Amino acid sequence: MISERIKRLSPSKTMELNAKIAELRAEGKKIISLNNGEPDYNTPLPVIEAAHRAMLEGKTKYTPTPGILPLKEAIVRKLMKDNHIKYDPSDIIVSIGAKFVLASAFLVMCNAGDEVIIPTPCWVSYVEMVKLAEGVPVLVPVASDNKLDVDAVERAITPKTRIILINSPNNPTGAVYTEESLRRLADLAIKHDLFIISDEVYEKFIYGTTPHISIASLSPEIWARTLTVNAFSKTYSMTGWRIGYAAGPREIIKGMSSMQGHTASNCTTFVQWAAITALEECDEYVESMCKAFEERRNYMFERVQKLPGFNCPFPEGAFYLFADVTGLFGKRVGDRVITDSPALADYLLDEASVALVPGDAFQDPKAIRLTYSNSMENLIEAMDRIEAAIKKLS
Ligand code: PMP
Repeated sequence: MISERIKRLSPSKTMELNAKIAELRAEGKKIISLNNGEPDYNTPLPVIEAAHRAMLEGKTKYTPTPGILPLKEAIVRKLMKDNHIKYDPSDIIVSIGAKFVLASAFLVMCNAGDEVIIPTPCWVSYVEMVKLAEGVPVLVPVASDNKLDVDAVERAITPKTRIILINSPNNPTGAVYTEESLRRLADLAIKHDLFIISDEVYEKFIYGTTPHISIASLSPEIWARTLTVNAFSKTYSMTGWRIGYAAGPREIIKGMSSMQGHTASNCTTFVQWAAITALEECDEYVESMCKAFEERRNYMFERVQKLPGFNCPFPEGAFYLFADVTGLFGKRVGDRVITDSPALADYLLDEASVALVPGDAFQDPKAIRLTYSNSMENLIEAMDRIEAAIKKLS
């Protein structure tokens, strides 16, 4: 009874890993999770209070599918202030996390066989979402510094190409795309009549000198062919609240609203009201979280660079390090051989009780991802354990 569409999907590698971690914890092992894709902070208290207030005020019923007007207006102000993009509330759709926004965008924009260019390494769900929409994911590796390789993107364009998906700051590499590369990409999209989906969920987590630039802000021509995607999940540590949004040309927002109206309906009502508080009252909270992440990034980068066989460009954003570990392939301890990145992740889980995500989950089997949204204490302990386990390999 399972459709071909669903049969084509690959199981989520990160979910499989979480199941294994849960098993090991149940056996009493103290696993340190450097595999998570979420901040370790609590949601800001004013947001929790706003949700509570909204519930008490009876904001517990359906809302218009694309979201309540006061939130859409607050998003419009945010996109103008932070991203220098002008939208109207009817250019916005509020949805169930960036994940549902992206999945519905592909369903709305892809016809069967349409190609979607995705620079890799990339977040786990993009490829499966495109497949679900009967599109064809076309994977284009980034340059060696993890930055966008615009020439390679251009070479991958065919008459069937319809969308280019970008994600800066990037999960898993932490790369932040430069304005110059975004301008070149915008020119390409205009020249070849392509659409851009820009996933900006990590925009606030930038520690280097490369600023976050929203590609839609670069010109009216690229504005008209870009969907800007963002969420409250990472910025305000609200991953469990399930709220994200997209801004873009009205026709596409209407299509997404129609699709959402027949599937999920609106994002949870009191969550929408609380999200206004996140946008309007939580700048300091975001800044302090960002400062803590920068310290952790510096510490982790220094430790990872010293590990034999690990190599990664200095990540400028998000909260991940993505290290090439090919130097360890073929090493062994006893009968155990580190054949590839999943074998290394398994070894570190068993030997060091540290959970990492192997790079094949991100379309790069040469690497492994380490998340640093964890306490300094846990990061120090995790790195000591990883170092000891790596020393045992020969
Ligand atoms: N895009 C990227 C790049 C992500 O890393 C994630 C979450 N891991 C999402 C989108 C989905 O975010 P949300 O929780 O808002 O659905």
